[in-house]
Amino acid sequence: MSSTARIPFNDLSRGMTRDRDALLEATAAVIDSGYAIHGAQHAAFEEELAAYLGAGDVVGVASGTDALELAIKAVMPVGRDTVVTAGNAGAYTSTAAVRAGFTPRYADVDPDTLCLTAETVRDRLDERVGVVVVTHLYGYIGDVASLRALCDERGIALVEDCAQAIGAQRDGRSAGTFGHAATISFYPTKNLGAIGDGGAVVAESAETAELLRRLRQYGWETKYRATLAGGTNSRLDELQAAFLRIRLRFIDDLNARRREIVARYREAASGLDPKLLTLLPAEGQEHVAHLAVARSSRREDVRTALSAAGIPTDIHFPNPDWTQPAFARFSPDVELPATLAACSEVLSLPLFPELTDGEVDQICAAIEALR
Ligand SMILES: *Cc1c(COP(=O)(O)O)cnc(C)c1O
Repeated sequence: MSSTARIPFNDLSRGMTRDRDALLEATAAVIDSGYAIHGAQHAAFEEELAAYLGAGDVVGVASGTDALELAIKAVMPVGRDTVVTAGNAGAYTSTAAVRAGFTPRYADVDPDTLCLTAETVRDRLDERVGVVVVTHLYGYIGDVASLRALCDERGIALVEDCAQAIGAQRDGRSAGTFGHAATISFYPTKNLGAIGDGGAVVAESAETAELLRRLRQYGWETKYRATLAGGTNSRLDELQAAFLRIRLRFIDDLNARRREIVARYREAASGLDPKLLTLLPAEGQEHVAHLAVARSSRREDVRTALSAAGIPTDIHFPNPDWTQPAFARFSPDVELPATLAACSEVLSLPLFPELTDGEVDQICAAIEALR
């Protein structure tokens, strides 16, 4: 490969090729079973994911966004209507909160980790707030136990958005087991990716799990008997469940490879002016390196230089939620400096476990050459 060959930002075909035989076998098993939805594969996947996480219950749904919507509905205390969340996490929670019929409210993020903490959330809480959604952004789980304690004091439910953080652990506990509920996405580029859409909600209590099972199926208590308003059709299909069971077996290896690649980028950037490029750390069990994110005060220059060296970059995420027309009416005058700074400085380098060592070398060389 020449040193200027263009590297893909992501390439799903590599993982599909690697897993091809197992995926085809799983496809045949689903076809032979005659089940398209909610069959043996789905039941086994829910159980295996719960066991992997050390969680009470897992409820499969159709996407990470559905997972958020249904989780918020399931845990929102009666009489409350506001969901506190971060404004730098792609607006998935805002979308879900509005669909659930509630009002998003934004709290600032910690300037180092770019995630909500008990400190950043505390003065955004009042008697209207019923749910706090903490996004484990880029794969990092912070001190969620303190956030949970704060929520418990105020009668507020905590939802963890683990779309980017499956497999992360803090103090020996998996992301997804600290909240009253937690949500996961199996969008194909996520750390545990399906070949299509998929999602799941982790439920702390059997009651929440039961509510979620009704919400995901038209609000039915039993077939054709709808007892719960706000239900919908949101199912994880049999094929996706079968594919996910295969990849769940080696998710820890995939996550380790992601961390290894970010460590290489960090090393490559260590000689640069930190203002030009600083890679956020993605180290240890607390981080599963969903994205390789850097900060730069000269983001456009850096992106241009990297692009010229064959390295595509992206921005996760450029627009704070409250600045977007769809959500502006909920929080027009909010001032969240750490969020604004992050949105104007972050950029993401290519990161997926199937990047070759040669490609990682090329990216590192391009980082070292930045001026
Ligand atoms: C991808 C993602 C979602 C949404 O998941 P979908 O399956 O695409 O609906 C939600 N939250 C975060 C943080 C994400 O990265």
